[in-house]
Amino acid sequence: MRGKKIFDISLLLENGMIVYPNNPEVRIERVEGETSVRSDISMGTHTGTHIDAPRHVFKDGKGVSDIPLSTYIGKCRVLDFSKVKESITIDDLKKYKIKKGERILVKTSNSKRGFAAFYDDYVYLDGDAADYLAQKRILVFGIDSLSVKKRGGSDQRPHTSLLKKGVTIFEGINLAGVKEGGYTFIGFPLKMGSIDGAPARAILIQN
Ligand SMILES: [Zn+2]
Repeated sequence: MRGKKIFDISLLLENGMIVYPNNPEVRIERVEGETSVRSDISMGTHTGTHIDAPRHVFKDGKGVSDIPLSTYIGKCRVLDFSKVKESITIDDLKKYKIKKGERILVKTSNSKRGFAAFYDDYVYLDGDAADYLAQKRILVFGIDSLSVKKRGGSDQRPHTSLLKKGVTIFEGINLAGVKEGGYTFIGFPLKMGSIDGAPARAILIQN
């Protein structure tokens, strides 16, 4: 690992950071004690870089701690879709010959626009493309937006198709400065138990 470049693809958790509409604001409050300082934190489970577990959309689906740890560490591929205008489609994905068990992270123009302010017209995963990836039975799908699906869209498949087939979703990854190619992915959510999601620290190590 020595000498290999490490990319931090996690968003900084801080007061005033972007959150998806109707999610709670992040609150980090410094509390002074007699001899030490602590910080009190409050945030939603889908804040910053985070995972979606099946329980996010399925009542009795697996929660964060029910997902095997091996999901969160191993080889991955970053695919560059920076030129895609609205959503990632099957046609965009096809040429990459995606295989079963892969961790696929998609870089879009969202990474370039940055994460200072929320905007509605972020690039998302199309429903048919979600079905396509679910059928391929990939292991992880990551995207550089706070949601994998269209803002306000009625097509739920980007969540439901992937999570039904056991694809763990990472949202809110920042791939600015990361080129298309193969990496080692490490991204562990906090050990939150059987709930819908959890913030994660995610990094890529250059192959
Ligand atoms: Zn989420």
